[in-house]
Amino acid sequence: MTKKTGCKKCDTKKTKKNVYFFGGGKADGEGSMKNLLGGKGANLAEMAGHPKLKIPVPAGFTITTQVCTAYYENAGKYPKGLKEEVQEALKKVEQVMGKKFDDAENPLLVSVRSGARQSMPGMMETVLNVGLTTDTIKGVVKKTGNERFAYDAYRRLITMYSDVVMEKAAGIESKEGKGIRQQLEKLLNAKKEEKGVKLDTELDAGDLKDLCEKYKTKVKQVLGKAFPDDAHEQLWGGIGAVFASWNGKRAISYRRIENIPGEWGTAVNVQSMVFGNMGESSATGVAFTRNPGNGDNNFYGEYLINAQGEDVVAGTRTPAPINKNSQSEHNRHEIMLSDFMPDAYKQLDAIQEKLEKHYSDMQDLEFTIEDGTLYLLQTRVGKRNGPAAVKMAVDMVNEKMITKKEAVMRVKPSQLDELLHPIIDPDAEKTHKPLGKGLPAGPGGAIGRIVFDSDSAVEWAKKGEDVILVREETNPEDVEGMRASHAILTTRGGMTSHAALVARGWGKCCVVGCGGLDIDYNKKVATIGGVSLKEGAWITLNGTKGLIYKDALPMIDATKENKTLNSFLKICDSIRNMKIRTNADTPEDAKRAREFGAEGIGLFRTEHMFYGEGAEKPLFLLRKMILSDSVLDRKVALKELFPYVKSDIKGTLKAMAGLPVTIRLLDPPLHEFVPHQKDQLSELAKSLDIQMDVLEKRVSLLKESNPMMGHRGVRLGVTYPEITEMQVRAILEATAELVKKNTKVFPEIMIPVVGMDKEIKDQKAIIAAVKEEVLKKYGLKKLPVMIGTMIEIPRAALTADKIAKETEFFSFGTNDLTQMSYGFSRDDMGSFLSPYLDKDILSRDPFQSLDTEGVGQLISIAIERGRGARPKLKVGICGEHGGDPDSILFCYKAGMDYVSCSPFRVPIARLAAAQAVLFTQ
Ligand code: PEP
Ligand code: MG
Repeated sequence: MTKKTGCKKCDTKKTKKNVYFFGGGKADGEGSMKNLLGGKGANLAEMAGHPKLKIPVPAGFTITTQVCTAYYENAGKYPKGLKEEVQEALKKVEQVMGKKFDDAENPLLVSVRSGARQSMPGMMETVLNVGLTTDTIKGVVKKTGNERFAYDAYRRLITMYSDVVMEKAAGIESKEGKGIRQQLEKLLNAKKEEKGVKLDTELDAGDLKDLCEKYKTKVKQVLGKAFPDDAHEQLWGGIGAVFASWNGKRAISYRRIENIPGEWGTAVNVQSMVFGNMGESSATGVAFTRNPGNGDNNFYGEYLINAQGEDVVAGTRTPAPINKNSQSEHNRHEIMLSDFMPDAYKQLDAIQEKLEKHYSDMQDLEFTIEDGTLYLLQTRVGKRNGPAAVKMAVDMVNEKMITKKEAVMRVKPSQLDELLHPIIDPDAEKTHKPLGKGLPAGPGGAIGRIVFDSDSAVEWAKKGEDVILVREETNPEDVEGMRASHAILTTRGGMTSHAALVARGWGKCCVVGCGGLDIDYNKKVATIGGVSLKEGAWITLNGTKGLIYKDALPMIDATKENKTLNSFLKICDSIRNMKIRTNADTPEDAKRAREFGAEGIGLFRTEHMFYGEGAEKPLFLLRKMILSDSVLDRKVALKELFPYVKSDIKGTLKAMAGLPVTIRLLDPPLHEFVPHQKDQLSELAKSLDIQMDVLEKRVSLLKESNPMMGHRGVRLGVTYPEITEMQVRAILEATAELVKKNTKVFPEIMIPVVGMDKEIKDQKAIIAAVKEEVLKKYGLKKLPVMIGTMIEIPRAALTADKIAKETEFFSFGTNDLTQMSYGFSRDDMGSFLSPYLDKDILSRDPFQSLDTEGVGQLISIAIERGRGARPKLKVGICGEHGGDPDSILFCYKAGMDYVSCSPFRVPIARLAAAQAVLFTQ
């Protein structure tokens, strides 16, 4: 972990210093030291100590990530001298805060929190109010004159400490609902019932005092140990628990999803407590310097009066808006911070502006107002959804806050998906009454079947079911299930609750805080709007409006004209230098891809004209051709088929006028086009006017044991030259007719499944002969046509020098190239992919993301050898990998001229190609 810390003060060597102080306008560390101090610690140091910021941050210190690594390397032992360093830092904190830790008169209380390099929201542990004991609590009561507050803080400490330190960190696994936290919550609820009140805030000092005693008895009874009445023991218990939580189940699972290395470790931040729950002059909140839901440049946030930070995130109370811009239908009736505490709000507003400018990015802030005094507890780069990421990137370029290059790196390719996401058909929404409403926490629409727990979500999703996870609220233990679900729906929580934060980070459709939803986990039934929905029932969510509908409503794509997205993609285009083409088989697909910015067609699969709407006649003629038993009959059938093929190709060439179109000659094994059911066969026999047994015999002759490696691709053209001849004639006549009408067309004839240069020579002779005839027929001297091949057989890659002598372009068919390199059948791999991934034999599905190590080598060799023989050889990719950002980076590095992908992935490819340039600079 310490090999490369990438910061000024710690450089590349291990530092001896384990503890970094911050506070009172000073800091040992700074913002660039994220690897050592974690994101939170580095930002606290920056806020406290940077001369341009000097922001009011409660004093504290950070124990470095190096200590975490050492702790794990030395079987849970701390490095030598750590205790002394902590003691020394604590003294400095005491000086700045004017309080003393473990002091009965004027006690200092601290929070103990985790803080990794990369934020892992809610994945690790936090203990607040550390330092409260039967001794020090008297001091708190005396100092604040608020007994209720002191015992409220004490009961929170007992809850958190027993849960985090005494249970979880000690490795005690309790049954669902039987954990110490739940048991203590039961006591709290019983107390509220006894007093006939609904909210915690309605309990008085006596109630809380009594509860604290009951809590302590319960802790002893359940965990077999007393809650420690020693401030220092609490502090070290908290520190140890944070380190232990780095290797907790949910942190490990989150790291796996987010690709965070285990050796990074977490830092521990010990910081003086400031209290948002000291009465009506105190508050706490979470805010964003811009709206993380839509990117608007408005200060946006939520807060709660008389509460601690956990209350905002837990979603147990509905937070109020900090200002007008943060108002929604759900919180409009709550008082705004700007009205309630105008001075603190003004100060907060000025600080947020300063912070955004300083970091040149949207910040996510946590603040607390203690008895009228504002403190910033945290700043970090705020998570945002796709539409917001794009808007902020474009706006910040216009505001001259960031460069175009920075803007391109601010949006993850996967985030663009959200802008191209399906939404519920608005017409269907008009005619359906929603069952209920919640907060719109993650945009887009989703349909799925209800499941009520994360394990089921994972299980059902594995079986290929579309699921929506429905919970009262989510917690970090639910991450796997949330990941597996199409969408998330909760009954509790606000826009900054766990479910909302996680869903936003992943760009998932999500509705939270749907109060009208009632869940019975035991019976696995949810009731909403008077309708009962059992596990497995279909529902539809509108995550943009927060609506819930019964059944699966029709969905449409939301990819209409989007000016901001277009501006962003133009920025990407100004940086990338690889072309983006599309795989399109119909003029409609071609048109749509052009709208998305495709700069040509990289793969037009001619065989697709035989499927789908209007394909009956050409398919019949194709079958007739396939089942002919003489060259003559085949030629007759091909002649009939010719006008269909020509018109199909002409339509696409026209739709892509001005841009290149790679037209692939027929590829699949012919057997694929023949019907297999008896009734269909007999119908075909009738139309072909042959006996059924004759037909069956011809069909059986076409059968192959391994068709993927059988009579397909160029092999069809070699054995039936008339098939190539007909297709080439169709392409060239369509071209000639368009050229004569001054339409600029650039067809590229592509020969598939080639393994030898001689196969190409064979086909080129046919092409040349047809070309001669077409030129004569149309009275033309030349035709703008190129001839190339797919590289999808390893032998072709290895003999690329010879093949390049015969062809003007290569297009890597990485679907087949992956299949043939691994020997994994692309159609059958599903049955054994899971164990390969589970056992880490494969890190990813190689048909989704290019295997750069193996298949990548073949590509590099082919490009090098191909360009060695023909320096101007045009090179691209048309396998599925052409739309995968990591594979696009590889293609760029390998020197390809273009990537080609499905129309919907074109915008993602435009961004990924721009990022590839920046990654390699
Ligand atoms: C390929 O093999 O990568 C390819 C694009 O062709 P197909 O998927 O049609 O075999
Ligand atoms: Mg192929």
